[in-house]
Amino acid sequence: MPLDATPPWEDVRNYVDGHWQSPSDSNGQNITNPATGEVISYVGFSSDADIDDAVQAGQEAFETWQSTPVEERIQPLFELKNLLETHQEELAAILVREHGKTHAEAKGELRRGIENVEVACGIPSMMQAGHLPNAAPDIDETAIRKPLGVFAAITPFNFPGMIPLWFLPYAVATGNTFVLKPSEQTPIVAQRLFELIDQAGFPDGVVQLVHGSVDTVNGLLEHDGIEGASFVGSTPVAKHIYERAAANGKRVQAQGGAKNHIIVTETADLDFAAKKTVSSACACGGERCLANDIVVVEEGVYDEFVDRVLAEAEAQTVGDGLNDDTDIGALITPDHEARVRDLIATGVDEGAELLLDGRDVEVEGHEDGNFLAPTVFGGVDPEMTIAREEIFGPVIGLMAVTDVDEAIDVLSRSDFGNAASLFTGSGADARKVRHEADVGNLGVNAGTAAPMAFFHFGGRKDSFFGDLHAQGEDMIHFYTDKTVYIERWPDA
Ligand code: NAD
Repeated sequence: MPLDATPPWEDVRNYVDGHWQSPSDSNGQNITNPATGEVISYVGFSSDADIDDAVQAGQEAFETWQSTPVEERIQPLFELKNLLETHQEELAAILVREHGKTHAEAKGELRRGIENVEVACGIPSMMQAGHLPNAAPDIDETAIRKPLGVFAAITPFNFPGMIPLWFLPYAVATGNTFVLKPSEQTPIVAQRLFELIDQAGFPDGVVQLVHGSVDTVNGLLEHDGIEGASFVGSTPVAKHIYERAAANGKRVQAQGGAKNHIIVTETADLDFAAKKTVSSACACGGERCLANDIVVVEEGVYDEFVDRVLAEAEAQTVGDGLNDDTDIGALITPDHEARVRDLIATGVDEGAELLLDGRDVEVEGHEDGNFLAPTVFGGVDPEMTIAREEIFGPVIGLMAVTDVDEAIDVLSRSDFGNAASLFTGSGADARKVRHEADVGNLGVNAGTAAPMAFFHFGGRKDSFFGDLHAQGEDMIHFYTDKTVYIERWPDA
C-alpha cells in the first residue's frame, strides 16, 4: 500500500531487488512528529543479512545495467522527474510531519532534489571523456569512463527529500547500482521516494533502500561488494566514515557539519541584509548546514544592523509547519531542542549579550512540540562556544569588527568552511572576500549560498573529507573510473 500524506503510517520497509521487505534486526525506533510529539511510524534496523541481500541485488543488477545503453538508463530518470513533480505536494506534507520544517521549505527542498534528477538526465553528454586523433605518430587516443559497481549513500535527517537525490540519479545514470541508507530520524519520505522509484521503471536491483542506524552504516562500509560511499552528516561521523571507508579500500566523499558566517560591511543594504540574515540562520529551524548564524558586522553600522535583525527576528512566527503562516517549524527531537537550549545557556554564561530570548515560546495546541523562537546574541567573541560550535537551532550571534580584514580573520579561525555570505555594496570588498575566505560556498548579497545542481556542493576544512563533492560534474568523476585507449593500426 502506498503511503498517503496522513499519519499514522505503517512501519517503513527496505526496498531490495524490486521488492519491499521489513528490516530483520530486532532494533528500531519510533518516528515522531516534531511539532506534536505524536508517534507516526516505526523504523526497524537492517541486519548484516539485510545488507548482504541489498548489496548482492546491486551486484547482480550491475552485470546488465553497466552495459545497458545510456539512453535507456536515463529513461527511468525522466519518469522519476515527472513522478516527483506530480507528487511534490504529497511528499512535502510527509516531510513536514516527520521533520518539522514548513511546507514551503519542504517544497523548496524537493525542488532542489528534482533539479539533480534533471541534471543526471544529461549524462550522455556529461559522461563523455575525450578523443584525440593523432595524439602521437599514427596513434589516436580515446578516454572512456566506466561505472564501478554498487555505491552506497548515507544521509542525514535535515534534508531527507533532497540529499538522497544529490547522489542516486548520477550513480544509476552512469551505470552503477545504488543502496541508500537514510537517516533513521526521517525515513518516511525515503520510503515514499522509493515507491515512486519503483514506478519509474528501473530494473530490479538497480536501486536499494535499507533502513538502520550505526551498525547498518558500518555493515555497508565493511561489505566487500560496496565500491564507494557518499556521506552527509555531522563532522565526527563524517570523519569516521571517511577513515573506515578508506581503510576498507572504498572511494569516499564525506560532507560534515558547519559553522557559517555572514559579513556585513558599511556599504551593505542593511534592511536586505537583516532580512536575509534572519532567514539564513532561522529557516528550517536553523537545522541547515548552510545556516549562517555568526554575523560579523563593520562597527560603523553595528548598532543599526542589530536593531534591524531584532525587528526581523521578533516578527517570525513559530509553529506547526503545516500552517501557512508559520515561518519557523519544530526542531527534530526533544533531545536536540535541549542541546540548543544548553548552548544558549552557555552563551549567557560565557558573557554574550542575550538580546532576544526565544526559549519561552509557546505554540497553542502543540504543547509536546519541540519549539524554539529566534534567539539573538550581541557582543559575541570568536572564542565563545556559540561562535565555534554548530548549533543547528534558530540562534544568531552578532559581533562588531573594524573592517573586512578582521572579518576574514574571524572566518579563518573557524574549524569549519562550509559556507559564508557577504553583504556589501563594494566590489573591492567582494573581491577580497572571494579570494581570501576559505569556504566551499560563498554568497555575495545572497543569504544562503546553495549552488544549483549543475554546480558541485561541498565545504572545506572540517566540513568536508574527500576531494569530489556532491552534485553535478563531480558526481560523474566520483561514480566512474577512466581508461585511455591508445590505438595504432599499422595497416591503415
Ligand atoms: P548524523 O551524523 O548524526 O547522521 C547522519 C547519518 O549517519 C545518519 O544516516 C545516521 O544513521 C548515521 N550515523 C550517525 N551516527 C553514526 C555513527 N556513529 N557511525 C556511523 N553512522 C552514523 O547527522 P544528522 O544529525 O542526521 O544531520 C545533521 C548534521 O549533518 C549537521 O552536522 C549538518 O551540518 C550536517 N549536514 C551537512 C551537510 C553538508 O552538505 N555538509 C548537509 C546536510 C547536513
